[in-house]
Amino acid sequence: MDLGIKGRRALVCASSKGLGKACAVALAAEGVHVTLTARGAEVLAATAAEIRKAYPDVEVIEVVGDITTVEGREMALKAAGQLDILVNNAGGPPPGDFRNWTRDDWLKAIDANMLTPIELIKATVDGMMSRKFGRIVNITSAAVKAPIDVLGLSNGARSGLTGFIAGLSRKTVRENVTINGLLPGPFNTDRLKGVAAGQVKATGLSVDEILAKRASENPSGRFGDPEEFGLACAFLCGAKAGFITGQNLVLDGGAFPGTM
Ligand code: NAP
Repeated sequence: MDLGIKGRRALVCASSKGLGKACAVALAAEGVHVTLTARGAEVLAATAAEIRKAYPDVEVIEVVGDITTVEGREMALKAAGQLDILVNNAGGPPPGDFRNWTRDDWLKAIDANMLTPIELIKATVDGMMSRKFGRIVNITSAAVKAPIDVLGLSNGARSGLTGFIAGLSRKTVRENVTINGLLPGPFNTDRLKGVAAGQVKATGLSVDEILAKRASENPSGRFGDPEEFGLACAFLCGAKAGFITGQNLVLDGGAFPGTM
């Protein structure tokens, strides 16, 4: 299926690994020029090289920086040029007990998982609207629909973003600019392994045992493959996806038990 976005330009934030990388790869496969960002230069360079090799007709720009900072965002926006597609992503906040979180911990989470996407949208959405094409995808979490006990910082910050987008996404769609959320359940990435490592002490299980148990408890009996996530992102960025806005698509193997 040709999604009709060949030659478009995308900024995919936090994309040297995991879900962000999968989105960048899926967009590049559609002929979209991609700008990738991450803090670590080495892995980012390897990912950029991998995409260039697989899709030689696509321009791949890499920007080393922290997307949750003003400077990181400015560098990414400057390098990416005139944007048609924006995929918002950043690392998730650490797990813990809210009794131990300070105001600073909350501000960090809100900065990374709520205000950073809003700032990037603010910088790009009017240009997209004036050009009558824009696709914005926010990578959030299944925790937006069903909170995860130990991830209170994530539950809170991402729900704030989702509420804001619910309003804004109805104001942009008339100009063919859509804004949607992709809500990952458990996907097989480093982040998932990191969360499991943090549960070793409390559970007395090894990382592998925690992961195996978690995968078997999912209705699908497995974790998601990042490629599946990237393809969903590319679909939402497609030329014919202009009637889908303000939606929050859960990709969790059926873990959320609600009827709708
Ligand atoms: P991952 O495999 O750990 O990859 C994270 C990527 O983001 C890396 O490329 C990392 O590179 C980059 N990154 C992190 N913080 C950044 C920052 N401040 N500025 C720029 N780049 C940054 O994580 P993932 O599993 O893909 O998760 C992506 C998002 O989805 C996270 O917010 C996570 O909480 C959320 N999520 C994931 C799952 C899951 O099962 N995987 C489930 C629910 C929600 P550097 O470290 O080099 O910067």
